[in-house]
Amino acid sequence: MSFRGRFAPSPTGRIHLGNARSALLGWLQARAAGGQFLLRIEDLDRARCKPQFLEDLYRDLRWLGLDWDETPLVQSQRDDIYREALEKLERTGRVYPCFCTRAEIARAASAPHGLSEEGPRYPGTCATLSPEAVAERARTRVPALRFRAAPGEWCFEDGLHGRTCQDVAALVGDFVVRRNDGVASYQLAVVVDDAASHITDVLRGDDLLTSTPRQLQIYEALGLTPPRFWHVPLVLGEDGKRLAKREGAFAVAELRERGIAVERVLGLLAAWSGLGDGAPVALQELVRRFRPELLPRSPVVAREAMLNEALGLGG
Ligand code: GLU
Repeated sequence: MSFRGRFAPSPTGRIHLGNARSALLGWLQARAAGGQFLLRIEDLDRARCKPQFLEDLYRDLRWLGLDWDETPLVQSQRDDIYREALEKLERTGRVYPCFCTRAEIARAASAPHGLSEEGPRYPGTCATLSPEAVAERARTRVPALRFRAAPGEWCFEDGLHGRTCQDVAALVGDFVVRRNDGVASYQLAVVVDDAASHITDVLRGDDLLTSTPRQLQIYEALGLTPPRFWHVPLVLGEDGKRLAKREGAFAVAELRERGIAVERVLGLLAAWSGLGDGAPVALQELVRRFRPELLPRSPVVAREAMLNEALGLGG
């Protein structure tokens, strides 16, 4: 199948230069391969996603010159599609209702292991409830649905990190695929949508590297073929922490509104991507320069001095 890449942002804030770099690299990879590039709006977290951020996002991407094929999928409009997938997992016994609260899981966890973003490993409290016990608990609490993690190491070949393995059952445990408010989890939706869009290559920040083994288990359970993955090391602030959307100075919208020339912003993003020295550059020139072997393999630090010089801000 011909190359199909995507950018799948969550409109929870103004996108910053780190997000823009991921979008640019995904776009360059697709265009340099003569393939298609899709945009998907990951707005399942309805409380944090705001229409204003979505408008900014479209405007920012267009300003950078990044275009996309096909109408973007919007996750908040795809409940029925996720429900179908969840029903399939229910029919095949891969999920079970979970009534635990966060506090209960924290108390029950014997050791504070697990992935930091997921909290402690789920100890399996609800994995073996009898149908009677489920019916009884369902009278007072709406359950989440958990996916029964398959045992053993799950490995894949990442385009940048190489062979990557994780024992999902030991590290994460059974994980949520439908929250107790009825909304599909990120892990489920990302798999269903990438498969529905026939995405061949997922390029995204390597903060999601540890999510991929869970996603691979969902691909398998749904009988879907996973894409190739390219987890790009993040852009870090001078404090060594990843850029956050609240850091206004790095927001693309802010630079756009200040009237900074887009070639300067592209020059900076190119320098952070092994595609230039920070000098202003046109997008088409970056398509010519791009090669997958040049994709960054270690994190870059967004130094204030370099930022100011590349953007012509002085000071
Ligand atoms: N929506 C996720 C984010 O903004 C990205 C998901 C993905 O690329 O798989 O962090």
